[in-house]
Amino acid sequence: MSDHWKAWVEVGQAIAADAKAQVTCPVCAGATLEVWDVPWEVEPKRWERHMKCPACGAYNSLRMKAEPSAQVTSTA
Ligand SMILES: [Zn+2]
Repeated sequence: MSDHWKAWVEVGQAIAADAKAQVTCPVCAGATLEVWDVPWEVEPKRWERHMKCPACGAYNSLRMKAEPSAQVTSTA
């Protein structure tokens, strides 16, 4: 396991808890990660949360699953 991977795990935990978390890039520390969600068409209660650094291009993603008690809210 690289140090970068360990840093991504911490970033992932913060972003999994709050998609709007302002998290600094763990690779370059030069920018705040962009975060966006992409639904899985085959499984409505699951989605992928993507993270990308606009400065260095570092990228990672999380697989998310709605909690049974969670309400899905949308402003769309
Ligand atoms: Zn970066």
